[in-house]
Amino acid sequence: MRGGQEVRLTLPLSGRRVVVVGGGPAALRRVSRLLRARARVEIVAPRVEAALEDLAARGEVAWHPRTLRPGDLDDAWLVVAATGDAEDDERVVAEAESAGRWAISPGHGALDEVGAATAPVDGWPGLAPGSVTLVGGGPGDEGLVTVAGARAVRAAEVLVVDRLAPLALLDSVAADAEIVDVSKIPRGRSTAQEDINAVLVERARAGRRVVRLKGGDPYVFGRGMEEAQACAEAGVPVHVIPGVTSAVAGPALAGIPVTHRGVSQGFTVVSGHVPPGDPLSTVDWDAVARTGTTLVLLMAVHTLPDIAAALVTAGLSRSTPLAGVMDAGLPSQRSLLTSVGEVVERGRPEGLRPPAIIVIGQTAAFVTLSR
Ligand code: SAH
Repeated sequence: MRGGQEVRLTLPLSGRRVVVVGGGPAALRRVSRLLRARARVEIVAPRVEAALEDLAARGEVAWHPRTLRPGDLDDAWLVVAATGDAEDDERVVAEAESAGRWAISPGHGALDEVGAATAPVDGWPGLAPGSVTLVGGGPGDEGLVTVAGARAVRAAEVLVVDRLAPLALLDSVAADAEIVDVSKIPRGRSTAQEDINAVLVERARAGRRVVRLKGGDPYVFGRGMEEAQACAEAGVPVHVIPGVTSAVAGPALAGIPVTHRGVSQGFTVVSGHVPPGDPLSTVDWDAVARTGTTLVLLMAVHTLPDIAAALVTAGLSRSTPLAGVMDAGLPSQRSLLTSVGEVVERGRPEGLRPPAIIVIGQTAAFVTLSR
């Protein structure tokens, strides 16, 4: 008879043989967690879910397609009863225990992740003292940061942020963490990239756990690679946690799919920070006009009339829908719909202001308008 208080243990499962009895949804819940812990997983079950069969086919787990036999549990380090039937699970646990094995079942024991707030992020070796972790914070809503990203922010000793990062996350930073604001405001206050790089390197060299929280994905027009290179050159270990880019999430938050079967077989993301024809531009706008894919423009509010003109000159239909999504993911989110021809004739659409994502193509017409 069980009872009494439960005690939590942290089990080092790496390289250890874990036998999972059962192949249904109950087993599926456990197996991925076990693999993350680098356990050697063996499943004993006559039938398994398709996702488990796939793991077996790829050699990630071993699957014995049969019922449990005497001896199966003898050299297991841990037995996980997950048959989906409480009585069967109890029988498996009893058998394991009589063989002197650790055993858990859904009724008794969980495979929790312990110390989630401070433990290194699974799969990302960063967050060590003296290292820099670049975190993609998503488009602005704190709910759209990844789980790994949110954990990194909570574990930061130094958090380097800018204005497009989801600033609501700052509330979850440790009270004694240092917060460094390195915002670059277009045509306004700005921190030079070299200064940002220097802050990262200097704080890491002082032995601190540095997290660089950026908007969207660090490598989508975020100068993330420049920061990573600066760290690498200075011998500072650097890791990247990707983020949800506003190039995809911005449209989605306004009801626009970047692809849609029968309408758009792809999307092209281009920066509009310099207009077509500018000596600094390396974009082939004629080619962009001919891709037949949804066109997503970032940093293009000011250059939009020039871009629209270039696209029409290259043959894009004037009637092509053009949507703008501003402040995506923030309470102030707004959107508008016009056409490429309208922009060519009348210039920048009224009310379009940065930060905005501009979507050009048939899927832009799906936009949910809000003011
Ligand atoms: N790394 C970021 C992009 C940085 S470039 C990402 O992956 O999302 C900055 C541009 O991103 C802005 O000029 C704007 O075009 C776009 N942007 C970022 N956040 C946005 C938001 N919340 N709403 C609309 N546009 C946004």
